[in-house]
Formats: sequence, C-alpha cells, structure tokens
Amino acid sequence: MSNKINLLNLNEKELTELVVSLGMKKFYGKQIFTWLNQKIVRDINDMTNISLKDREILMENTYIPFLNLLKHQVSKKDKTEKYLFKLADGNTIESVILRHKDRTTLCISSQVGCAVSCGFCATGMGGFTRNLEVNEIVNQFYTIERRLSKQGLGINNIVFMGMGEPLLNLNNVIKAIEILSSENGVNVSKRRITISTSGIIPGIERLLEEKLPVELAISLHCAIDEKRSELMPINKKYPLEDLFPILQQYQKQTKRRISFEYILINDFNVSETDAAHLADFVHNFDHVLNLIPINPVEGSELQRPSQKKIEKFYGYLKDFRKVNVTIRGEKGTDIDGACGQLRQKNSK
Ligand code: SAH
Ligand code: SF4
Repeated sequence: MSNKINLLNLNEKELTELVVSLGMKKFYGKQIFTWLNQKIVRDINDMTNISLKDREILMENTYIPFLNLLKHQVSKKDKTEKYLFKLADGNTIESVILRHKDRTTLCISSQVGCAVSCGFCATGMGGFTRNLEVNEIVNQFYTIERRLSKQGLGINNIVFMGMGEPLLNLNNVIKAIEILSSENGVNVSKRRITISTSGIIPGIERLLEEKLPVELAISLHCAIDEKRSELMPINKKYPLEDLFPILQQYQKQTKRRISFEYILINDFNVSETDAAHLADFVHNFDHVLNLIPINPVEGSELQRPSQKKIEKFYGYLKDFRKVNVTIRGEKGTDIDGACGQLRQKNSK
C-alpha cells in the first residue's frame, strides 16, 4: 500500500492532474473527488459512473484510507460523543461531537500530541509526536459523518479544538479546510469553521495573508503577561504585548468577532485583579469571551474553582464590566470531554 497514492490527501485540482496522468478523462477528476469527499464512499468500486477499467487503474495506483475506531463513548448527560481513532502508523487521536439544540459541532484534532505544553492540558503533557496529514484531518469528519447520517444527523460546524495546535500544522490544516469547504465536497461554510490557537503569531499572520474567512478563537487563559507565561510557556515566545497588535490588525482586516477562551483555575486566574486585566484586554476587540471551568487532568495540581467563585468572576465581567461573556456548558464531563483526556487514559 505504501507506494499507492492516498486519495484523501488531494484537492480537486490535484486529483484531476492525477487521473489525467493515469490516462483517464479529465472530467473524472471532479467525479472522483465528489465520490470521495461528498458521497464519502469507502470502496473505489462504489464509484459507479467510473468505467470498470478506470476503477481498476485507480485501485492499482491509489487507495482510500480509513481511520480505525478504537473506542466510542456517548455521554449520558448531554449526548456528547467521543471517538478514539487509530492511525495507520498506530498513533491515536480523538474527535468529539457536541450537540446543541439546533446544530452539531465536530471538534477535530490537527496533530498527534502538541509541542506547546500548556500546564493544564492532557495533550500537551504527552508531548508532540507528529503533524496529522490532510487525509487524517478530513477523515475524522468523514468517518463520523457517515455514522451520524445513518441516524439522520449531520455535522454543521467544525472547531479545531481537539488535540494539537492547528497553527503549527497550518499547511495541512488550510488544505483540509479547503477540501471540507469545497462545493464538490461536504461543503461546510468556512464561516462555520473555527481555528483555536494558543497564540502562534506567524500562523495568525499567515491566516491574514491567505484571507481565509474562518473564525478565530484565542486560548487566552490569562491576561497578565508574566502569569500567562507560567501557565503557557509559549507566551515567552509570543507574549501578549506582541499578540495584541496582531489581533487588532486581524480584526481590522477581517471585521470579524474574535472568541477568547479562558480556563478557570482555582487560586490562579480568578481573582478580581485577573478579571480586571481580562476585561481591559477583551474590550479592545469585538469579542466573545468563553469561560471554561478547568477539567482537572491527572498529573496536574490545577483545580476547578468553587461554583461561588466562578459566579463571582462571571458576574464581575458581565454586570460590572459589560463583557460579552458566557460560561461554556460543561459538555461530556462524564466521558472526559476535555482535550486529550480519553487518549491519556487509554494509553495506560
Ligand atoms: N491548541 C489549540 C487548540 C486545541 S486545545 C489551543 O490551545 O487553542 C482546545 C481547547 O481545549 C483550548 O481552549 C484549551 O485551552 C482547552 N483545554 C485544554 N485542556 C483543558 C482542560 N484541562 N480543561 C478545560 N479545557 C481545556
Ligand atoms: Fe497544545 Fe492547545 Fe493543549 Fe496548549 S491547550 S498544549 S496549545 S493542545
């Protein structure tokens, strides 16, 4: 299989070039792309409008990859679903399905592990293994979409909030987004795709250059520079004082609202001083601020604040400082809904 071409790594243009190089008609490129990325077939023989002879040529030279589902958990509380997949090289990744009243969101992984090493994150604690290939990113969507469609459901939104830092695998993430949002594919609007980042400045600059109209979420977690560095070592490389102007530029250029994510950690980032800095920071933007009570992970001391403290922090931001703030619903906590936790348990 190793010298065969992986069909889910290709955009429509590349696929068309490939079929021409294999001696097929040019318009087969679009048809095969549609079979792969819209109809999501798993067998080249299901491509019924491709001649038998050409299907044989395809089978000799290419293959459709699949993700091996190792584990599937469904939350009894809120129907959050967690999928653990095994990749061709044996590494594992996870994806999460979140159900809202009117839509279904897929939380997708972009890397095996993560090099950013945030102190609160199970993925980061496991270190970095490798970037995901384009096919491994889009196949999280396809594998789950195929299962959901049997229940009459479908994915409406994608968030890059699974394992990994998407802006450190940006070539593959951008290509996967192109494929997933393409008209002859599953056609998810780019505006329904969110990239979440710990604040990788060159990546944000690249997004600006590409003029990719996706949503941007910034994992802020602390608005005081020295303290943010304690929690997120990446802040030493890309400190808030440098992140701030690029985000301003981003908003000026895209005219889009920026989401800020803020994990609530007891005795660390939930004092009134923290809240004041946070309000000052986000008020420079057309913003939405999501507060996320931390999901404690094994091997870390960091704990969730009491409900009373959470409400006080929230109340100060909302009522006193008029921040556009929400507390993120705690989805899937009974199945370790937070980033990287299922994999951590499974690898033991
Ligand atoms: N690397 C990117 C995207 C993946 S992390 C980023 O950091 O933005 C996606 C989200 O999961 C982030 O907002 C992250 O802060 C959050 N997360 C990670 N560990 C968590 C934990 N223990 N509890 C709650 N949220 C967590
Ligand atoms: Fe990486 Fe995001 Fe986890 Fe930080 S929170 S270690 S950036 S996956």
